[in-house]
Amino acid sequence: MKKIINVAIDGPAGAGKSTIAKAAAAKLGFIYIDTGALYRTVGVNALRKGIDVKNSAAVVASLTDELKIELKFIDGEQRMFLCGEDVSKEIRTPDASMAASAVSAVPEVRKYLFDLQKNLAKSNNCIMDGRDIGTVVLPDADVKIFLTATPEARAKRRYLELTEKGIDAKYEDVLADMIERDYNDSHREIAPLKQAEDAVLADTSELDLQQSIDLIINLIEGKI
Ligand code: C5P
Repeated sequence: MKKIINVAIDGPAGAGKSTIAKAAAAKLGFIYIDTGALYRTVGVNALRKGIDVKNSAAVVASLTDELKIELKFIDGEQRMFLCGEDVSKEIRTPDASMAASAVSAVPEVRKYLFDLQKNLAKSNNCIMDGRDIGTVVLPDADVKIFLTATPEARAKRRYLELTEKGIDAKYEDVLADMIERDYNDSHREIAPLKQAEDAVLADTSELDLQQSIDLIINLIEGKI
């Protein structure tokens, strides 16, 4: 049997992980798995139920037997389904971002999503991006990359992304959200955002998109 190759890309919000990982996966013929979308879907479910996402007990209670979170590939694109409904657009709003950040600090939520991520990686050559892929989900990944950039560079990119999608946003709010999410993600007790000891650091603050993609493809090809 051919060996399955797993690439883990971790880093803060807005570092360009998804765009870069998607392009690198297409070039290598791997599938790309965006794990943030899973946390966003749990967040949207909580918001829809009117749950205070900062209340851990209430978030845990939202993980009912009826809750169904599915990740599907449609025309090669990852889409998220919440109880059968496609929520791929709704999970991208600023409210969903904050809700995702809050629910992701709850250990039961991380446990709930762990097997789904593990199983996808077990049977597919993939690039998986997130916060704890190289440290927790795929500690034996063949390649680990920690992708980062300054908060300002990341906020600028995220702001452009939102406005291009027609989502109303202000740069100052996006930057403030980014700083708050960085803090939450790196200070939580469980699976905090941190570079795995054996991960390669890639800082894209001064690189444009194509340069960042080339850097990541070179790093991966150099290791597999
Ligand atoms: O990557 P993205 O910004 O879509 O992630 C949304 C939120 O989900 C992040 O703020 C982070 O708190 C959480 N997350 C996580 N672990 C992952 C991926 C995302 O905690 N592997």
